[in-house]
Formats: sequence, C-alpha cells, structure tokens
Amino acid sequence: MSTKLQGLRGMNDLLPDEAERWEAFEAIVRDWLKSYGYRPIRTPIVEATSLFCRGVGEHTDIVEKEMYSFEDRLNGEQITLRPEGTASCVRSVIEHNLLFQQPQRLYYSGPMFRHERPQKGRYRQFHQVGVEALGFAGPDIDAEHIVMCRRLWDDLGLEDVELQLNSLGDAEERARHRSELIAYLQRHEADLDEDGKRRLLTNPLRVLDTKNPALQGIVEGAPQLIAYLGEESLKHFETVQALLREAAVPYRINPRLVRGLDYYNRTVFEWTTSRLGAQATFCGGGRYDPLIAQLGGRPAPACGFAMGMERVMLLWLEGQDTDVPLVSPDVYVVHQGDAALGFAFRAAEQLRSAGFSVVFHCGGGSFKSQMKKADGSRATYAVIVGDDEAAAGVVALKPLREVGEQISVTPERLTELLADRLYGVQPA
Ligand code: ATP
Ligand code: MG
Repeated sequence: MSTKLQGLRGMNDLLPDEAERWEAFEAIVRDWLKSYGYRPIRTPIVEATSLFCRGVGEHTDIVEKEMYSFEDRLNGEQITLRPEGTASCVRSVIEHNLLFQQPQRLYYSGPMFRHERPQKGRYRQFHQVGVEALGFAGPDIDAEHIVMCRRLWDDLGLEDVELQLNSLGDAEERARHRSELIAYLQRHEADLDEDGKRRLLTNPLRVLDTKNPALQGIVEGAPQLIAYLGEESLKHFETVQALLREAAVPYRINPRLVRGLDYYNRTVFEWTTSRLGAQATFCGGGRYDPLIAQLGGRPAPACGFAMGMERVMLLWLEGQDTDVPLVSPDVYVVHQGDAALGFAFRAAEQLRSAGFSVVFHCGGGSFKSQMKKADGSRATYAVIVGDDEAAAGVVALKPLREVGEQISVTPERLTELLADRLYGVQPA
C-alpha cells in the first residue's frame, strides 16, 4: 500500500461542517459590503515577485521572510503567492485604468500565503477580506472604513474589541521624525535585539512595532511621530476623530501603532482583542496615498483595510450561544423499484424547479435503510416512491422533524403543499 498523503503544514482543509460556517460568515460579509456600496474585484493568486517587493516594501516581515516565491519553470519568471491583497488590487486598477475620472470602492476576499510558524489564528494559507477605496483624499472615507468595521463587529456580535488609532503624517513629517528616531535608537543600540539593530537604519519605525518585551522601555521613550505632524495632517486626523465621535465609535490613540507595511501615511488603525492570545490584531488598515504612484499609476490617494477571516471567525463563533445552523435540505427522496426510479427522479427535478433543495437517494438499499439516510440528512420531509405509487402517479410525503401522517399526493399537489408547509405560501 502506498503511504498516506497529508496536506501542507499551516494550510488547512475546511471540511463540510466548517465550510458551511464559512459560507454563512461570507454571506453576512457580502451583505455588509453591499450596504456600503463596495464592489468586488478578483485578482490572481500569483503575481510577479517584484509587485510585492515594491508594493509591500523590501524592509517588511512579509518581503524579508514570509513570501512563497519561486521561479516559473517554463519561463524563469520570479513569481510569488500573494501574501496580501492591496498590491494586487492596485496593480489591477492601474492596469485596467479603473480610476479614469472616477474613484472606486472595492473589496476582495480569498486566500493569502505567508511562511510563518503556524499556531492558533496564524496559518501559512489564511484568508482575508479587504476593502480599498481608491481616489478619495478626504478624512471622511478613512472614518467610513472604521465605522463600517464597527458595524460588522456589531452584526456579528463580537465582544471585547478595541480600536487603536494613529496618524503617520506625510512623507516629509515622517522624514523629520525618522532622523530623530534613528539618533535616539543609535543611543540605545547596544540594548536593541537583532531585528532592532537590523531595522535601525532600514525601517526604524518598525522598531517601535516590536513585540519583544525587553525593548518596551526603549520604545516608550522614543520620539513620537504624532508630535511631528504638520497642520494639514493634524486637521485630517482630527476630522477622522470627529466623525468617529459622531458615529459613537470609541477609539484609543496609540502613538506606537505603525502597521507592518511600508506604504501607509496619515490614518492607521487596528482592531484588537484580548481573546486571541498573541494574535491580538484581527483587522488593520489605513491610508496609503503614495502606493498607486509607487506602482506606476497616476498619483491618486487611497485607503483600505483587511481582516483575517480565521481570527474574526474565531471571535464570532466563540461569542455565539448556539452554533451556526448547518445547511439542511427540504426533501430527501426515497425510492425503490424500476418504475419508481424514473418517476421519483422526475419528481425531484420538479421540486428543484420550484425552488426546493432536494437530495435524491442514490445507491439503492431497502426502504428502511433509505429512511435512515433521510433522517441523517437533516431533511424536513421524505418523499417516498415505490412501484405502486409510480403506477398511480403519486408520491408519499412524510414529515421527518415532527410527528405527522404520511400522505399520498400527486407531484403537482406536492409542490403546493411543500410551499405552504415550508414557506407559508398558499397556491394562487
Ligand atoms: P500579525 O502582526 O499578527 O502578524 P500582520 O500585521 O502581519 O499581523 P496584516 O498584514 O495587517 O497582518 O494583515 C491583516 C490581517 O490578516 C491581520 O490582522 C490578521 O487578522 C490576518 N493575518 C495576517 N497574517 C496571518 C496569518 N499568518 N494567519 C492568519 N491570519 C493572518
Ligand atoms: Mg505578520
């Protein structure tokens, strides 16, 4: 016998019970996105490696150590499984000229790939829902994104979530802060860890983002970017906050919040929870005005956010009193005999045409064993056909979830009866 094959570490199968929960979650998310006027965009899962180097930033965890990159064997091209969605979305918008004379509200959802150490809430293939608003400059859209997140958490009944907010200012303001930050960090260089030393000159802002508890003292004493913001940036930030107060969305300003990716400016935010251990952040985003030009498009402002679906689902399912109900068919069709097969097969198709969900028994067996399968299917009704019923042109209808008589009806009458019993629809 050959050895049993296994999936890759950190890449999960979603078996039917779980996959149905995902579909229920995705349906809520889709309705929520529509209610804010966002439209879907779907891009390929692999892109040129250079897109992520330029779009995410050379000195980020993602590009430095987390990407699944390989050479296309056929043409030697360097390609990468997407580690996030913004770069691809922006690439596509530029390539297809979607910003010509109009801004865009877009969303995407799907698998992302990062080579990380798998643990609860952290996987190598994980899923994000991301929202991007391209071509909008004002603070209103930044606030819209935050407020819409709050609404989704409420729709899902999430508890114990906190909004952290900061502003990274513009490039000039960051440059002034950066040189003072570097000087400060150099004074403490001996006490930095390896990552800190390496990032000191390449990406000093990221040193403030460290999770190393030993560095917290240094981080707390560091010059804060917020003190370097000019008038415009401050005004933008203040309007975002005013709109959040307007919508009664509480927030905490965290001057050390810098986000992992290089392209952010002005507003940045993260939603955190104490319920997911080290994986505290389950959604993050902000403004990234420089990115479109950086990827070769005509300069245009933009902002967005992405949530990790696994982490949001962990919070969602934990907060529910009862599990998400599994999908169950309306009808399970049981049949026996040659004449019954064709008749039952046709009746099942008629029911589906009328909008019912119907599982047709395949694989034979006694009536008794088929009825067991019908029960196990969680169907509300069994429709039973033997050769006698087929000859008389009727089927037997039997309720499976409550006590009730088995009755004999024509296929036409069956449709009306089910419409009435399952959905309260009376025949016209
Ligand atoms: P972390 O600090 O946890 O590594 P991140 O800053 O790398 O997160 P982002 O790049 O901002 O995360 O991605 C947005 C969201 O995607 C995160 O808030 C998280 O919910 C989710 N996410 C990121 N990496 C993973 C992963 N490896 N597995 C599961 N979810 C993830
Ligand atoms: Mg990460």
